[in-house]
Amino acid sequence: MARKIQAIRGMNDILPDQSSVWLYLEKTVADVVKSYGYQQIRFPIVENTDLFKRGVGETTDIVEKEMYTFDDRNGESLTLRPEGTASCVRAADQAGLLFNQTQRLWYTGPMFRYERPQKGRYRQFHQIGVESFGMGSADIDAELIILSARLWKKLGLLEHVELQLNTIGLASERETYKAALVDYLTEFKDQLDEDSQRRLGTNPLRILDSKDESTQAVLKDAPNLEDFIGEESQAHFELLQAILKANGISYVINRRLVRGLDYYGKTVFEWVTSHLGSQATVCAGGRYDGLVEQLGGKSTPAVGFAMGIERLVLLLETLNLIPDAAKFSTDVFVISMGDDAELASFVLAESLREENSNLIVLRHCGGGSFKNQMKKADRSEARFTIILGQDEVDNGICQVKDMSTGDQQSHPLADVAAYIGAKL
Ligand code: ATP
Ligand code: MG
Repeated sequence: MARKIQAIRGMNDILPDQSSVWLYLEKTVADVVKSYGYQQIRFPIVENTDLFKRGVGETTDIVEKEMYTFDDRNGESLTLRPEGTASCVRAADQAGLLFNQTQRLWYTGPMFRYERPQKGRYRQFHQIGVESFGMGSADIDAELIILSARLWKKLGLLEHVELQLNTIGLASERETYKAALVDYLTEFKDQLDEDSQRRLGTNPLRILDSKDESTQAVLKDAPNLEDFIGEESQAHFELLQAILKANGISYVINRRLVRGLDYYGKTVFEWVTSHLGSQATVCAGGRYDGLVEQLGGKSTPAVGFAMGIERLVLLLETLNLIPDAAKFSTDVFVISMGDDAELASFVLAESLREENSNLIVLRHCGGGSFKNQMKKADRSEARFTIILGQDEVDNGICQVKDMSTGDQQSHPLADVAAYIGAKL
């Protein structure tokens, strides 16, 4: 036998027994974002490498070591998108959607990062992203957070996630802070972990969220970003908090939250859970007023977030929060004996679907003995099996077997859809 080819490490198949949870989550998100007036945008999975280098930032983990980059056949450097924001900006700006107008957009799809695969962390993973453009005031930051809270509420997750908030100020404020931080940390360079030593020269803010104990000890007496935040950023942060409070959204301020991507400024936030080990963040975002311009567009305020579908699915499964209605289960299995009955069974199955579009109706294909067909009906775990033979066709009826009780009754063909609809 030929050797079987396996999937690529860290890139998962979503099998039929998992896909219903995905569909449930995606449908719930689609409904919630639509109710806030967000429209879907779709863009390619592959972009010019420069888009992410410039958009995400040369010194970020993503660009430094996580991208799937390759040369096209004509020598152009392309990259499988590691996140959606840069592509969303590219697409919206290219279509002229960002000029003198506001936009509320969302997207979903696979992202690619060369990371060490583990629970909740994969090389192909999926995000749902929500982005808004053209609005600079903190009310839109609040709207996005309130929208995400509504989603958690719908999914039954609200009490299992915590909102962490911070402000990282304006670029100029961060530059002053970075210089002070580097000054301080350089004195203790040999006490920092290897990654942090390297980041001292490239992306010093990221040192703040180092997990290393010795680094964290050094950071205890480091200058605080908070002390470098100017009036405008502070007022923005306060308005955001006032709106959240007025809407009953609880949060904690995490002064160490800086986010890994270069484009953020002012508001940053994460929704974290204690149920998923170290892959704790299920949703993360913030304001990125500089990005559109950085990518060649006209200066446009923007704020958005992205959530990780795999982590949310894991969380829903761990907490047993998948409603029965979202699970795939066959309602009716239709079997028939004989040519006339086979034809009639098609008509009957169609009438069931026509009457109630939520019903899952499985019509047995391929004939076979009555016993065999009944076995398949059993295995399908359908609530009802409908049986049609020549006698039934001649009399315009069918047998309806309730699989949970074993009861079998005959019903006129014309009434059966209504009967089943009422029972389910
Ligand atoms: P982390 O700190 O966990 O690496 P991140 O800051 O790199 O996350 P973002 O780029 O902000 O993540 O992406 C937003 C969300 O996408 C994350 O909060 C997470 O839920 C999800 N996510 C990011 N990377 C992965 C991955 N490799 N596998 C699965 N989900 C991911
Ligand atoms: Mg990461």
